[in-house]
Amino acid sequence: MTHSMSEERILYFDYNATTQIDPAVVEEMLPWLRDCYGNPSSAYRFGKRALQAVEVARERVAALLGCEPSEIVFTSCGSESINTAIQSALAADPDRTHVITSGVEHSATMKLCEHLARRGCEVTWLPVDSEGRLDPARLEKAIRPDTALVSLLWANNETGVLFPVERIAEICRAKKVLFHCDAVQAVGKIPLHLADAGIHFLSVSGHKLHCPKGVGVLYVNKRVRFTPWLRGSQEGGRRGGTQNVASIVALGRAAEIAAQNLAEEQTRVRELRDRFESEILACVTGVEVNGDREHRLPNTTSLAFEGLEAEGALILLDERGVCCSAGSACTSGSVHPSHVLKAMGFSNERARASLRFSFGRFNTEAEIDAGIEIVPAVVEKLRALSPVTGPVLVS
Ligand SMILES: *Cc1c(COP(=O)(O)O)cnc(C)c1O
Repeated sequence: MTHSMSEERILYFDYNATTQIDPAVVEEMLPWLRDCYGNPSSAYRFGKRALQAVEVARERVAALLGCEPSEIVFTSCGSESINTAIQSALAADPDRTHVITSGVEHSATMKLCEHLARRGCEVTWLPVDSEGRLDPARLEKAIRPDTALVSLLWANNETGVLFPVERIAEICRAKKVLFHCDAVQAVGKIPLHLADAGIHFLSVSGHKLHCPKGVGVLYVNKRVRFTPWLRGSQEGGRRGGTQNVASIVALGRAAEIAAQNLAEEQTRVRELRDRFESEILACVTGVEVNGDREHRLPNTTSLAFEGLEAEGALILLDERGVCCSAGSACTSGSVHPSHVLKAMGFSNERARASLRFSFGRFNTEAEIDAGIEIVPAVVEKLRALSPVTGPVLVS
């Protein structure tokens, strides 16, 4: 007999990696998996019902983002939305081949921009300071007549640090440059209102929002000329491929619930995070928070444990049922230190000694209590095993 995952106690502190599908979301999507399998593009009523469900979801997502339903394009994931926005901006004007982004972006943005740089585009990678903050004045100076696009995160997935999106949008508006915002971690955690926000493209991912994996949204401002990436007739010709009706319905419901739960993220979830963080800081020596603690998501804490090897800590934490991550999920399992922490000017040692804990809707006080017991014990154990003591970190 093998143990199913559900028999084991899981302390899930990795909401920035993915989230549990909300049971209400599962309920809402089930009929669209079981019985209502019509194609939204079909002419008969059985198909039209699916189309209606997709349009209701579009309205619900638009309500969460504070935009018009016609500005919502459903995609397969956050990464697709990011790729589409950047490529669309570059297609708008062949004379503009310069892209501005930052050194702390999600891998979808980083990898595409690296690829574009090899294909003849010029990419400016804006730096951040030791608290993960971006200086808008540097952005302003980096914009050139041939700049096609500024693509920046709203909230960093590793540290939770928020970029000054309003100020960035203002600068882009004044300089008449397109602005894409990767808001995957911000949606549902902080209030957004896109009407008149000066943002041209914005990316959202379902699975960070208590929805299934494999569905996302690209917001395209109605005043922006859009060039599709995946061509076909669906989504008004903006994104080809028969819509993933069940997952889109799920995203609509998830958006509705997220809107209702925004206040809770700012209060209950923030309190859980703050209690966890302050207890760890109090119980363990040589711990520092990575990133600006003030301008930060309410659910995230990235902690550097002096002398710790995060890779080893993850194994011991996993044995005790704790799910958290070292650097970003995309780079854990490899020996590369987090590019985000490196861009903040930290050493390889500090980057490798850092763990990210991210909390959310289904975490309880009791789980935080358990985490506060387990994490210091694991850190102590590993430090006791390590031959290195004092300020020198494990190499
Ligand atoms: C998860 C994530 C993405 C990618 O979304 P997918 O749906 O997994 O492709 C992009 N940006 C940020 C900040 C993320 O956290």
